[in-house]
Amino acid sequence: RKGNVVITGASSGLGLATAKALAETGEWHVIMACRNFLKAEKAAKSIGINKDNCSVMHLDLASLESVRQFADNFRRSGSPLDALVCNAAVYLPTAKEPTYTAEGFELSVGTNHLGHFLLARLLLDDLKKSDYPYKRLIIVGSITGNTNTLAGNVPPKANLGDLRGLAGGLNGIQSSPMIDGGDFDGAKAYKDSKVCNMLTMQEFHRRYHEETGITFASLYPGCIATTGLFREHIPLFRLLFPPFQKYITKGYVSEEEAGSRLAQVVSDPNLTKSGVYWSWNKDSESFENQLSKEASDAEKAKKLWEVSEKLVGLA
Ligand code: NDP
Repeated sequence: RKGNVVITGASSGLGLATAKALAETGEWHVIMACRNFLKAEKAAKSIGINKDNCSVMHLDLASLESVRQFADNFRRSGSPLDALVCNAAVYLPTAKEPTYTAEGFELSVGTNHLGHFLLARLLLDDLKKSDYPYKRLIIVGSITGNTNTLAGNVPPKANLGDLRGLAGGLNGIQSSPMIDGGDFDGAKAYKDSKVCNMLTMQEFHRRYHEETGITFASLYPGCIATTGLFREHIPLFRLLFPPFQKYITKGYVSEEEAGSRLAQVVSDPNLTKSGVYWSWNKDSESFENQLSKEASDAEKAKKLWEVSEKLVGLA
């Protein structure tokens, strides 16, 4: 049978390119988990994904209610789950004031981390039940959260501190909207959320890999300077960023190439190692990359897991 893969945020950018790459193999049925049903259907059509190989299901990660509904709907559909890709993200670098999810969490961390945390926890049982030869849970990371790299050292740097803002509910009322308890900074909130994504992947690995055989992995697909992620940025940035990445830092990858990298992490029989953060070198060969000190801090990962569980209502 075909494998079934759920990809969040498959209506544009990396998620869409990955959906296409996997659907094209004929070996996968892609469930595009998207907040805008119509946009997702149009996107799939415009990029030429065969209807037999994909379907759209509604998921708004900025609402925990919607995440629970998605998990229920998926289960009711009766299809097995063989791979889950947590890809969706919001990035609000120019926001002066925080905005919030339905439950009142700062939007970047609420969507990118907490929404995915609940989704992955709820769907873990479905993954466990899969009889597919390999089952995987992939959480898209980023270089920007890794302060051991040049890109990760562009201020404001990621820093989760002692998680006091997160523990307080990130609501901007009783607590700061930032994980470390500091003042709101949209660019930092995104980077913090990516550190959470990478810590979560490792904590999943430590808690569940041996028992379940599921491969947990993260990746940095390269700088895809053309995606919608930068849509909130100032126009001059949007104009200069792609050529800057192409010719100066040389970290640029096309959406298609990035999609084939993520598709590889989902389906390549050679990439079954769990607990790994994949990157690609200049010749587009994958290698296991090192995470920054904070993004590989096991104690912080455990604490993040426990605090997040409380916020999403699992503990
Ligand atoms: P895009 O903005 O193109 O895609 C983001 C996707 O997330 C869209 O499909 C968007 O939906 C979806 N999304 C946003 N909010 C929600 C929500 N509340 N519920 C459900 N879906 C939502 O960005 P990219 O493709 O660039 O980003 C994809 C991933 O790649 C992210 O995890 C990002 O951190 C990561 N990444 C990107 C890099 C880059 O250079 N672009 C580099 C490193 C990592 P909609 O279409 O409705 O807006």
